Amino acid sequence: MKYYLGLDVGGTNLAAGVVTEDYEIVSRKSVPSGAGKSVVEIVQAMSDVSKEVLAEVGLTEADVDYWGIGMPSCVNPKTKLLVHANCFGWRNIPILDYLSRHTRLPIVLENDGRCATYGEILAGAGKDYINAIMLTLGTGVGGGIILNRKIYSGADHMGCELGHTKLIYNGRLCTCGQYGCMDAYCSARGLLDTALDELRETKEKNSQLWEVCNGELNSLTVRQIFDVWNQKDALAEKIVTQYVDHLAVGMSTLITIFRPEIIILGGGVSNAGDDFLWRVNERLKVRTFAGEEIGVPQVVRAKLGNDAGIIGAAMLGAKQPFIL
Ligand SMILES: [Zn+2]
Repeated sequence: MKYYLGLDVGGTNLAAGVVTEDYEIVSRKSVPSGAGKSVVEIVQAMSDVSKEVLAEVGLTEADVDYWGIGMPSCVNPKTKLLVHANCFGWRNIPILDYLSRHTRLPIVLENDGRCATYGEILAGAGKDYINAIMLTLGTGVGGGIILNRKIYSGADHMGCELGHTKLIYNGRLCTCGQYGCMDAYCSARGLLDTALDELRETKEKNSQLWEVCNGELNSLTVRQIFDVWNQKDALAEKIVTQYVDHLAVGMSTLITIFRPEIIILGGGVSNAGDDFLWRVNERLKVRTFAGEEIGVPQVVRAKLGNDAGIIGAAMLGAKQPFIL
């Protein structure tokens, strides 16, 4: 049996795993990523957790061919610098230099959203499909595009920032500095911003949304919004309807260009339930070019959860995963 080492680096956790050639994770460990710590400390933790998962199944670095890593942002092949990782406040970091001090293995590093998408296409919701798009609806919006079962990432791997496709002309300020990005409306934070806008503007004070947060609007959570929505609260209905419409319009742009066979939703908001998913599918038919005539790809939930990022990272060097 051949083994692969994958590490998924997020703003909250570092999740490492040893993955078999059948995409089974035989050893895994997750530790806090330590946002706020120095690059040296975070890279040390990345190395430690990766070596621990190998040791747990009696392996060492000599038993794997490379170290696959999924990270926010990606390395610019011209400068060899990690461009921009918001969660750590990193800009143009020589991450490969830091990492190579800890290993003799070749390092294969790719954007975390693309790794999760690749994991889902290999072993999850996309495994029976050739062309797929995944959107992760978490703190931000990430994702990836799969064409012919390979990752499409554009020139110098700098494309496919799906969350920063424009949704609203001169809309909300996004974390990236641009205005009106999909991220600013369809992330968990975007949903909360929509809710806060509505709550501050409405004269109706009888929505249960006020009760669940005890009037402390800034403490409102995505889960609370969907819980109240499930109880048929009128204001929550208005907020979720807006959210679904933004998401459908954002996805319709991607469908119009790429026509995937399937769209996979991951991230916290994707767990809002079957009614939510049904709404998204229905709205997409209305909002997509020729949606009624030729149909739209089905939108499904991701299957692998956090494992997708580990599997995708682990398999980055197994066979050429990229469209070159
Ligand atoms: Zn943006």
